[in-house]
Amino acid sequence: MDPPTLNRVVLPSSRRDLAALSDTVHPLGGGTWLFSEPQDGLTELVDLVALGWTPWVARADGGLSIAATCTVAQLVAIPPRPGWRALPLFRQCAESLLQSFKIWNTATVGGNIATALAAGALIGLAGALDGELVIWTPDGGERREAVSSFVRAQRSTSLLPGEVIRSIELAPEAMAAETAFRRIALAPLGRAGTVLAARRDPRGGFVLCVTGGTTRPEVLRFPELPSASSLAAAVGAIPSWFSDAHGAADWRAAVSVLLAEEIRQELDR
Ligand SMILES: Cc1cc2nc3c(=O)[nH]c(=O)nc-3n(C[C@H](O)[C@H](O)[C@H](O)COP(=O)(O)OP(=O)(O)OC[C@H]3O[C@@H](n4cnc5c(N)ncnc54)[C@H](O)[C@@H]3O)c2cc1C
Repeated sequence: MDPPTLNRVVLPSSRRDLAALSDTVHPLGGGTWLFSEPQDGLTELVDLVALGWTPWVARADGGLSIAATCTVAQLVAIPPRPGWRALPLFRQCAESLLQSFKIWNTATVGGNIATALAAGALIGLAGALDGELVIWTPDGGERREAVSSFVRAQRSTSLLPGEVIRSIELAPEAMAAETAFRRIALAPLGRAGTVLAARRDPRGGFVLCVTGGTTRPEVLRFPELPSASSLAAAVGAIPSWFSDAHGAADWRAAVSVLLAEEIRQELDR
């Protein structure tokens, strides 16, 4: 779909060209959401892909820096490397996106997080791995924010006009964690009812991120593997379940308790 109010797409050659961003001039990632529905008031797009950012970089400290323009296909193609035990979670989360090969090859990590859908598969990934966004601000500086607080509600983030997500940073401890994943939908190829992504750090800490059935990423954190009853209580206390065609709030809460316990047992090794 061509948004009817869109006049032009700008190809930036440097960060300076991002100064054009405003209330009506937005960043373009892969365009899979932007061109899928009307965008009231949008007059211009600035195509971030033209900036040619390297999709991902192995950090010197053992962490991983993922460019906002890294596509889903590039994300899941990151090769294994010693110390990166969390890598299988990347594909598990990416495959929970309901998508065609076009979306797989075009949608970007930054675009997925900025869109802030409950089904934001890479929001769950970044939530479980404590991903931190590097956000370029219009004054030429940058700010950092955890993905879990950046996404405030469905289609709502802390991003201000003129700001651009530059990268998603994953710390070495998160990359070294054992991970587990569960997703359930009412239909075999249906949109997610609930999605749970979790990690257990080398030092024992346990982090569970629940998305899909909650209006925002819900991150539960324990200093060590919790007991079955404490985990069930924490998942049951999540306040932001919602009901829609893909599941009722009470079903989402109940099934998430069961799936969280499966994850707890899987990571109890
Ligand atoms: C058939 C279909 C199925 C889909 N299924 C899912 C699904 O299951 N889960 C899901 O989450 N989404 C889904 N989507 C929506 C969308 O395809 C994905 O969210 C995708 O990851 C968006 O990424 P993109 O790069 O294409 O974003 P774009 O469409 O380019 O941009 C999306 C939004 O993010 C902003 N943006 C993009 N990059 C940045 C950046 N670096 N900094 C700041 N803002 C930025 C844009 O201005 C825009 O507001 C689906 C779409 C379709 C058409």
